[in-house]
Amino acid sequence: MTNGIDKAGTTGGSRPETTGRSAGDNDEKRGGRGGFSRKKVCRFCAEKIAVVDFKDQNTLKYFVTERGKIIPRRISGNCAKHQRGVALAIKRARNVALIPYTVTMG
Ligand SMILES: [Zn+2]
Repeated sequence: MTNGIDKAGTTGGSRPETTGRSAGDNDEKRGGRGGFSRKKVCRFCAEKIAVVDFKDQNTLKYFVTERGKIIPRRISGNCAKHQRGVALAIKRARNVALIPYTVTMG
């Protein structure tokens, strides 16, 4: 494959605009610290799910990376209570082999 070096010779700060934004994807542009008006509610709170079911793979998959890592709360948007529930559920799901512990690449 190619090296990390792309075409030499182009110097200067012209940076290509990011290609089109896909619909259905939330823009994660968020202002600096301070005003934090957008209310991001934990999806379990929103759906009033008290306990995260570790057998619910589809839900849990959402909170695990492709490598099997648990997605941190700041990204998943869960509240502390449910994030803990999710983490616990993921660990249980791993234990019964619904979710891998790690995925080795290559
Ligand atoms: Zn919650």
